[in-house]
Amino acid sequence: MRAQKTALITGVTGQDGAYLTKLLLEKNYRVVGAMRRASTLNLPRLAALGVVDDVELMTLDMQDFISITQLIKDVVPDEIYNLGGQSSVQASFKQPLYTAQTSGRGTMSLLEAMRIIAPEARLFEAASSEIFGQNPVGKIDESHDFHPRSPYGVAKLFAYWSVVNYREAYNLHASNGLMFNHESPLRGMEFVTRKITTTLAQIACGGQQQLMLGNLDNARDWGFAGDYVEAMWLMLQQETADDYIVASGETHSVREFVILAAAAMGMQIEFEGEGLQARGIDKKTGRQLVSVSEDFYRPSEPDPLVGDASKAHKQF
Ligand code: NAP
Repeated sequence: MRAQKTALITGVTGQDGAYLTKLLLEKNYRVVGAMRRASTLNLPRLAALGVVDDVELMTLDMQDFISITQLIKDVVPDEIYNLGGQSSVQASFKQPLYTAQTSGRGTMSLLEAMRIIAPEARLFEAASSEIFGQNPVGKIDESHDFHPRSPYGVAKLFAYWSVVNYREAYNLHASNGLMFNHESPLRGMEFVTRKITTTLAQIACGGQQQLMLGNLDNARDWGFAGDYVEAMWLMLQQETADDYIVASGETHSVREFVILAAAAMGMQIEFEGEGLQARGIDKKTGRQLVSVSEDFYRPSEPDPLVGDASKAHKQF
């Protein structure tokens, strides 16, 4: 019988951490989840998927090289999934250095610890489509130029190149999953998809608030987080480490997302006006439900991004 594998997941309390924990437990892994220490335990996502009692929880801060090193020494992982770090593009404009420390330098710390202590382990890095960004022509594949448009994208680009460099320099099995946006009911409330669905749900239950959004024409390639964690696992099962786009291949605007989410709750939203003057009206009641505020515009935005995941489809 094959020996049980050990997986170490950083960012286990996040959206992807929860889905990945569930997937790996189903595959009979020993799953060690690393979470940053807080005054209260942050386990609702793991609890929502019914896996909180089956994952071994340990503490780790991506800013702290000593704790990363100690953890790898204690856990002896076969596979490391690096999902931990400041993950919000919007927040990265307010906390650029913290984002760089956790989502950029944190990855290099992990690679360095792996190089010294566990060079036989395999590493998945949660890279991001936000490292592309400007003037993409058509669908984006692995050979596309980089031009991040946020401190988050800049930090993720540092992490991306760190993975490539450690693979080339030290022959580590380290892979980047260049993931486009992926969502789920476990997505953090600060992300636009959850803001739309929760606010519309509150309105549907009698709430009197309006849904306040930024640029309605922002478009993203949105997928389901449960599918993306499977791609993470598949990447680490390949004989050779490599980098792969993970994407749905379709792009949709925030405006389209609002219309569809509202329709699922029995509302029929139509938009009038453009830019900051745009308003979303429920045709059934005549009530204005959506307005646009400059406060939710970002200092700089990527162009609409859509990914080409054919390399992963062919390989896996
Ligand atoms: P998420 O829900 O925000 O989870 C991020 C995780 O990182 C949380 O567990 C968080 O802990 C942890 N974390 C934050 N700062 C940390 C620190 N200093 N030390 C240790 N852990 C820390 O994000 P997600 O959607 O699951 O995404 C997982 C990874 O994929 C992230 O690296 C993200 O940047 C990347 N990614 C996501 C997408 C997407 O669309 N979801 C797309 C491309 C790439 P707390 O629970 O304590 O906050």
